[in-house]
Amino acid sequence: MTDAAAPPTVLDVVNALDRRYPRDWAEPWDRVGLVLGDFAHPVERVLCVVDCVPETVEQALAERADLIVAHHPLLLKPVSSIAPDTFKGRVIHRLIRGDVALYAAHTNADIANPGVSDALAARLDLLDLRPLVPASGPGAGGGRGIGRIGELAEPMTVAEFTGFVAIRLPATAAGIRAAGDPERMIRTVAVSGGAGDSFLGDVRRAGVDAYLCADLRHHPASEHLAEGGPALLDVAHWATERPWLDEVAVWLRGEFGVEVVVSDVDTDPWTVHAVGTLEVKETQP
Ligand SMILES: [Zn+2]
Repeated sequence: MTDAAAPPTVLDVVNALDRRYPRDWAEPWDRVGLVLGDFAHPVERVLCVVDCVPETVEQALAERADLIVAHHPLLLKPVSSIAPDTFKGRVIHRLIRGDVALYAAHTNADIANPGVSDALAARLDLLDLRPLVPASGPGAGGGRGIGRIGELAEPMTVAEFTGFVAIRLPATAAGIRAAGDPERMIRTVAVSGGAGDSFLGDVRRAGVDAYLCADLRHHPASEHLAEGGPALLDVAHWATERPWLDEVAVWLRGEFGVEVVVSDVDTDPWTVHAVGTLEVKETQP
């Protein structure tokens, strides 16, 4: 038993996060868990972020956070240097000098229950949630899996749902695009936090009316619709995963009584969105 008055250490919080998001639930290509940090350092303040980038590292230092819990791994691909003339090297130096530990829960948090897509679905008031792709392997069972399917309390059109999503999710410059007939009525919706191209076949087989995710592209989206697939909503990547941070923050406060700040620094790369007014005219030969 630890002294009730003493703050938890980095090791205490890491162990609890690892129990909630076991590392072997992550995809084989993923890199999750503690990235850097002193196990014995006390944790009084935590900052939850989608991306560990210079802007959120500065926020962690300004907030005097002892630990960053991030969704995206800082070091997904192998590196042979963390020299400070690279952006990741600079981030690592800033964190170590500032005594800020960094932890990532990525695909292991995606499939968890509750996980990233539960928080996204909750923002949209979806009911009767079930996984879009049930987890297999070490994470199987327990309602775990990629994405969530749920029901809207009241059916609405694709256009109405797009407007509803826009007011329920954090605003970004990129905004929200929808594909398919705007007047199509929808009730059953699939959502998946982050890039969602690879689950288009799953949403077709699931028979949902609409699918919301991030990072959709022209050809996969066009072919999906041509094959009669559900309407698509393409949301800024950061906005689909930001709701999860609130859920993690509530859990961390309850588990350890620590202060937790949720970052609203929009780390989506897109910063400008314009809609042109030039009418397309047929060109003369
Ligand atoms: Zn993501």
